[in-house]
Amino acid sequence: MKYIKLSLPHSGGFEKKYIDEALADDWIVPLGPHVNLFEKLLGEYLHAPHVVALSAGTAAIHLALVLLGVKPGDEVICQSFTFSASANPILYQGASPVFVDSEPLTWNIDPELMRQAIIDRHAVTGRYPAAIIAVHLYGMPAQMDRILAVADEFGIPVVEDAAEALGSTFAGKPCGTLGKYGILSFNGNKIITTSGGGALICPTQDAARRALFFATQARENRPYYYHEHVGYNYRLSNISAAIGCGQMEVLDEHLQRRREINALYAKAFSGHPFIKVHTNPSADYNSNYWLSTILLSPDAPLTADQLRVALADRNIETRLLWRPMHTQPVFASAPAYVNGVSDDLFARGLCLPSGSSLTDDEIQTVSNAILDLCHA
Ligand SMILES: *Cc1c(COP(=O)(O)O)cnc(C)c1O
Repeated sequence: MKYIKLSLPHSGGFEKKYIDEALADDWIVPLGPHVNLFEKLLGEYLHAPHVVALSAGTAAIHLALVLLGVKPGDEVICQSFTFSASANPILYQGASPVFVDSEPLTWNIDPELMRQAIIDRHAVTGRYPAAIIAVHLYGMPAQMDRILAVADEFGIPVVEDAAEALGSTFAGKPCGTLGKYGILSFNGNKIITTSGGGALICPTQDAARRALFFATQARENRPYYYHEHVGYNYRLSNISAAIGCGQMEVLDEHLQRRREINALYAKAFSGHPFIKVHTNPSADYNSNYWLSTILLSPDAPLTADQLRVALADRNIETRLLWRPMHTQPVFASAPAYVNGVSDDLFARGLCLPSGSSLTDDEIQTVSNAILDLCHA
């Protein structure tokens, strides 16, 4: 029996055309026409003209913090319920993360708890946090209106980690374009892939120029190599960008399929006493459903991890939700403002196979296996 994976890269057949083009013109370098084209396509798609293609989403978060002037001794607020790549760049800058828990509606950073954290950090350190990193986890938009209102109250810039949220919208606006900076990831398992890559969505052309400057070793404009700043090698390669150009042709199809898959799960588990599918809390939220996720009620006959193991025995890959950053040893010394939501989600949640190449039959197989294992 075939192994049903969580989320596989899904090529659309258009990638080869662009790769061949790049090879034919010897653009096998980290600059070139496909990087420019990929940025243009992303910019048009997001209605955000200042996009810089980078080697990873993690690099994009790092550069956002560099451009915001985050420095050693600063604190940066970060959603605790996320992948570690959201928080690691804070440490790259020598700054300290302050983790804030989630609200139960979207599973993303709780705006009111964030407000309390900002006020408390000011009381403790005499300074406000230098930036806020909010995440659209699993593609579900965070409560951006409330997050931005609190951030504006204290004049703190928001970096939107939209690594999982390409194609998601909040109140009709694309995720990644709502904060001061937005970041995307094109890693192998995301909505689209460049085999590895990311992008930084900048507020102005000047900010994009500065991002590009830091991403290409911070070389000053002189006839010899001259450096006044620490630079990085973070530019996306032209070959990777060529794959991205091909993926942009199938993006809408892939998004539609992820949403169909979520609807199939929602239907399969509708009214179930123990299983709840995570879906848009209101019409303002339009998740790309990068991964479809479920929560098991505490009285379910097995735990999320027991269900994961039992499904693996049936050749179905699932994954526990992200383990919150405030419980990770690497961040043990970081202050955390915790309300129990993300700990509870981690204990009860499971990511289901959601890749856009999965068939209706495969989703049915997964649903039936879960229903069988979770019978009342
Ligand atoms: C994947 C991911 C990243 C990092 O992106 P890379 O391209 O893998 O560096 C950051 N944040 C979140 C929430 C992610 O899922």
